[in-house]
Amino acid sequence: MANNIFVYLAEPHCVLCRAALPFYPGINVFRVNASAWEKDIFPVVGTNVFVTYNGSQEVIIVARDRPNIKHRPFVFAHQVCAKVIESLPGSPGHREIYNVAMQTQEILPRDCWGEEPPTNLASFLSAVQSGIVDTENTELGSCLSRCAQLPPELQYRILGYVQSNKNAVVFSLMAALQTFTARRLLLMPAPPNQLTPGGPPGFDYVDTAHVCASLIDVLGRSYMWGIEFLPTQSHRPTPGKECMEVRLNSVRHMEFILGMFGITAIRFLMDDDSITPWLGDARKGWRGKVVGFTREHIQFPRSGQRDLVRRFAELLVQTARQDAPLNVLWDTSSRLLEGGESFLAHYYTDPPCSRPSAFLGLPMCRYLPLRLDGHYMRAITMYVFDIGVSCIVVHGKTSYRWVSVPLRKGVARTFYFTPGEEITTLGLVSVGDRIRPAGPFPLFKTNLNRVGYFGPAAALVDSTARWVSLIPDHLDRKCTVTGLVVDQMSIFFGFFKTMGSHCVLNEGVVAGHESPTSSSGLHLTLPDRPRVLRRLGFTPFSVVSTARLYDIKQVRVLLKDARDFGNNRSFRYCGLWFLHGDGSVETLGSWDESLTKFAKVIYNEADGRLTRVIFRLKEGRHPCVWAEVVRYMSDISLRVVPHESEEEDTEEEPWMFTEAGDYVIHCKIASSKKIAWTFTDACDDIQDAATDTVSCSLSRHTECNLVRVEQ
Ligand SMILES: [Zn+2]
Ligand SMILES: [Zn+2]
Repeated sequence: MANNIFVYLAEPHCVLCRAALPFYPGINVFRVNASAWEKDIFPVVGTNVFVTYNGSQEVIIVARDRPNIKHRPFVFAHQVCAKVIESLPGSPGHREIYNVAMQTQEILPRDCWGEEPPTNLASFLSAVQSGIVDTENTELGSCLSRCAQLPPELQYRILGYVQSNKNAVVFSLMAALQTFTARRLLLMPAPPNQLTPGGPPGFDYVDTAHVCASLIDVLGRSYMWGIEFLPTQSHRPTPGKECMEVRLNSVRHMEFILGMFGITAIRFLMDDDSITPWLGDARKGWRGKVVGFTREHIQFPRSGQRDLVRRFAELLVQTARQDAPLNVLWDTSSRLLEGGESFLAHYYTDPPCSRPSAFLGLPMCRYLPLRLDGHYMRAITMYVFDIGVSCIVVHGKTSYRWVSVPLRKGVARTFYFTPGEEITTLGLVSVGDRIRPAGPFPLFKTNLNRVGYFGPAAALVDSTARWVSLIPDHLDRKCTVTGLVVDQMSIFFGFFKTMGSHCVLNEGVVAGHESPTSSSGLHLTLPDRPRVLRRLGFTPFSVVSTARLYDIKQVRVLLKDARDFGNNRSFRYCGLWFLHGDGSVETLGSWDESLTKFAKVIYNEADGRLTRVIFRLKEGRHPCVWAEVVRYMSDISLRVVPHESEEEDTEEEPWMFTEAGDYVIHCKIASSKKIAWTFTDACDDIQDAATDTVSCSLSRHTECNLVRVEQ
């Protein structure tokens, strides 16, 4: 019988350079071909980790998934990163690296930034300051110190290049140096806490006070490690501090921004609805909800940024009501529209996912506005794979917004809106059972009765398909969907496990306090699916797209690197983009609107009259399903005749094999012509789109409810 169980959670990143370690499937699925230095890792242990073995009295468990019980982190480092630290002046040893690990633990899960290059992790300045290279007499040293003097934007560009271009080891070493330098700053002694309760003597009668925040720079951003309220006359400008004046008797609420290592900014809301400017750096991070705050609450610890975070977490919990909406942290870059309400689908049989440790249990949400640049979005793109969606992009006229898991994957599909078209029905489709669940896959209907669906083609007609509407029953037809809400940390196997909506009530509708429900299923009438979906090679996952081959003004094509059936490098034609005469856009295959401007234009109206699209496919054995002979798209060409030509396109065989064994399909441009492209990771199929329809009936998901989210 074990008396003491010590539970550790294995950190999936190198503690020094913070790069993902290559032994974690799911976190870095694409890094199976990691270099030798990346695989050369060792556990960094402090002396307190060693537990004397005493019969079977004590047990150490190192878990890979966050345990439900109290646990400590178990950290690893690359050998190269440890070596560079150990070669610093004073040769810091493993014990010190362990201390660094403990002090630079993030309070937010690292993946909360999604797919963003971590350029701020490395710095030229810290490489110079570490003293590891002679800046006077070596070329490398003088290069580094000159880089350190460049404008920050330029430095980030260079570091981004260093990180992404197979120089990852250089980046890792620079990041390791930076982490170690940051730790020295963290150890800076804090002045003793002199604050007496309620402030200095006589402070009770003071109205105008100085809020002074002590700042510290950690890994390229400044954090607060102490906040003081002082009478204005006792304030002296001090380096490393930022201050502002506040009328204490008028303060009603407080808002704060949370960064990776602590609080980065605060501001106050006054009784006359005015808001103070931000104190600190509010540019990037996560904001909590506005919390009640008066002069009763002005005591803050000055003992470091961790204690300060704990105090803010307390304030947040203190003001929570029983019936209050779900508390979340919002990404600061996404300001919600005023007057709306936010909802999140909660699949309550799902296992819990990783959450910020200091603000336990709070989902971290990002908001994607459906109106951008003053107009309704032009298009929406999602990256879909067999079990879910990994990335969503909203395209405006000139800008775009996106959310993504740390490594997006899947087949991109874009839905183009026509002017005046808007989403009226929005929800999530799930399929499978508890053992093999898939989804949620977003589906929406527009006011023009068009359906946008981002999921496997087969899922909609699956008997296990379930539906959750993201518009609660009581707002049905009484609101406008103005945004999507994505829980950034609710990720399993690289896809988003839940989403939500932001709705603004229509004019004249009064906001109620009903708890939101989503009680109906969904009925859809869709064009029948291509027959090829029944074939084994297309069964597990395929995406079907259709387009009219008529009234075409411009055609673009997307290519991607691929392997042919003999495993030789080749190109695969993966998507087609049609601009029609009425301004509408349709795409076939895989398409991401962000790539449209880079896609090759293969036809312009001025070139002549388009009469035919010719698809050429190569045939071979499916790489996974060997029994299947499948084809992939190796070329797409067009037949164009001069505008003045009277010549009619002559009838030809609709399909044939060439001498080289390629399968060629001719599709004639005609008013009734509509074709379907069935796309999978490994193969393609082109055929005429079905003319008959199929009706799908999705019943309500019984293990999911809608939750109102605090804004
Ligand atoms: Zn490392
Ligand atoms: Zn001050």
